[in-house]
Amino acid sequence: MNLGWMIKLGLSISENIRAQQEIERARALEAQARSEALAQSQRAKAETASFKRTAYEQKIARESVAVECPNCGSTNTRIRLGSAGCCAYCGTAIRVSMQGIAYVASSIDRAQSKAESEIREKGGEEKK
Ligand SMILES: [Zn+2]
Repeated sequence: MNLGWMIKLGLSISENIRAQQEIERARALEAQARSEALAQSQRAKAETASFKRTAYEQKIARESVAVECPNCGSTNTRIRLGSAGCCAYCGTAIRVSMQGIAYVASSIDRAQSKAESEIREKGGEEKK
């Protein structure tokens, strides 16, 4: 072993370490970029979902009417025309005709209104 060879070896080792560090830096940057892109797309998805839900809520609000509960007379409940809902005060199931007439719902309507409010709570997926 001569000195020149050892210097060469030392240089090539430090060269390797540098190259390794470059690769690691590049990997870290790539991972960071990837996680940023993922966060970005999740944000976009959440925004889209909340926009859809808002649009759906607005649609419900537009199509719903304030009804007088046939049971307790409370007028705090809004129900979509041609749909069923529950009185916000006494919980009576109320059906509203397309003409906006409210009457106590049958047990079938009660099941439907329960299903509809469950669908609404699950995130505003619109019924086809
Ligand atoms: Zn009521």
